[in-house]
Amino acid sequence: MMLTWLKKRRFGYRSSNDTNGDRETRAQPIVPMLHIDHLTGIYNRFALEHDLTALLNRPQSEGRGALLLIDLDRFKFVNDAMDHAAGDEVLISIARRLASVLTGVGTIYRLGADEFAVHVAGSPSRGKIEDICATIKTILSTPFVLSAGEVWIGGSIGIAVPTPNDLSMSALLRRADLAVMKAKQTAGNSHVFYEAGMSAEASARSELEYDLSRALDRNEFFLEYQPIVCSETRMIKAFEALIRWRHPQKGIIAPDQFISIAETTGLIMPIGNWVVRTACDEAKRWPSPIGVAVNVAGDQFRDPTFLPYVRDCLRRSGLAPERLTIEVTESIFSVDPAVIADSLMELRAEGVKIALDDFGIGFSSINNLRRFPLDHLKIDRSFTEAMLGSKRDAELVDIILRLGTTFDVSTTIEGVETERQLEYARSRGANAIQGFLISRPVAAGDVSAILDRNRVHGAKT
Ligand code: C2E
Ligand code: MG
Ligand code: MG
Repeated sequence: MMLTWLKKRRFGYRSSNDTNGDRETRAQPIVPMLHIDHLTGIYNRFALEHDLTALLNRPQSEGRGALLLIDLDRFKFVNDAMDHAAGDEVLISIARRLASVLTGVGTIYRLGADEFAVHVAGSPSRGKIEDICATIKTILSTPFVLSAGEVWIGGSIGIAVPTPNDLSMSALLRRADLAVMKAKQTAGNSHVFYEAGMSAEASARSELEYDLSRALDRNEFFLEYQPIVCSETRMIKAFEALIRWRHPQKGIIAPDQFISIAETTGLIMPIGNWVVRTACDEAKRWPSPIGVAVNVAGDQFRDPTFLPYVRDCLRRSGLAPERLTIEVTESIFSVDPAVIADSLMELRAEGVKIALDDFGIGFSSINNLRRFPLDHLKIDRSFTEAMLGSKRDAELVDIILRLGTTFDVSTTIEGVETERQLEYARSRGANAIQGFLISRPVAAGDVSAILDRNRVHGAKT
């Protein structure tokens, strides 16, 4: 049965206006299996190489099409957290979905683990390519129902259009690769056309990756702490730990510029562990019950040693678990809800608090508040910025604050910069405030002074 299906798929997925059709008829008796990806039944990397080489040696006037490289966004997680059978199911479903929407439009290939390519034949306009990308993104972001449960995958697409100078597949693939790397830097499901300058950007990024891989051993990270205060009394309840990188040549680098690199390279595990340990050790020196909040990336929960590591940090530092808050963003729930819920439940059972950070943007869903054990909700600072300028945003903040009451979680408004914002947040029932109005993030050595001043002057911190 598998073979029949394979055969059906092999012939069903080639574009009808594909100018490489001659390979299909002439080469078919000798190479079909060599050019087929045995798991999914679609064409493989050898087939792409064969097709592109033939195509790039044709006169430009015949139209060389466009190459779309697709890289799945969360495939590794499915493979790690579920199992390889689940990963295989996803790949087969993706091949089927691509085939169902691209037959007659392009030829699809599986190049490696979670990498697919589509060659769109002819001379497609940019608009047509955009439409094809939109279709691909829709089918990739539709949940996959597997034997082991439901997963969301998503994917990034890089597009390269052959130039007259392209005589081999490698140059074209390299450009599509650079474009896909760029697409992956944007959170989830985006597509990017190759542009000149991407090579330089990619080398700067790999240089940064290399520096990042050595930064921990070279003691280049440090934490700053930003107070979170009670909205009524303005007394400090906790500090949020925020990582900074003291780069030997580039100076201080903010987390927004390196956390995503740490995530894609896997460096987030050791760096994230360093943050937890340092924050626990430093917070232990503060008077109880002042707490510390630590940002934790989704990937860290995939590491089975992470929870024992947190426990060990608490034990060794002597910090009461109730004084530690783990901040997560909603993106972590979209991958394997069961694993995440178990981890959060385990942490909470020990007394650690959980905060949902940057609430209201990205993957927001009321369902997350129902399904996951939470203590705090932090409303993203984009709402704070907008709430006094727009009735709609003010109402949204109000709704989120009421959600906090409904789900019995305390609420914090992030990014408060003015007294008016604070007053609005307080009057609508926000429990806590964080922002430059109270204090910018400060060095670990300045925390005691801020606490002393806060005890004496409260509001004038
Ligand atoms: P976040 O967790 O939402 O942290 C708050 C960010 O908002 C901080 O930026 C803080 O400096 C900034 N902020 C606070 N108050 C104000 C304000 O009134 N106005 C404005 N304009 N900004 C304000 P920062 O330190 O650059 O951190 C950015 C993000 O990087 C954090 O957002 C967090 O998602 C991530 N991050 C920081 N440290 C870590 C870490 O140790 N691990 C991980 N995984 N992520 C981290
Ligand atoms: Mg945070
Ligand atoms: Mg935040």
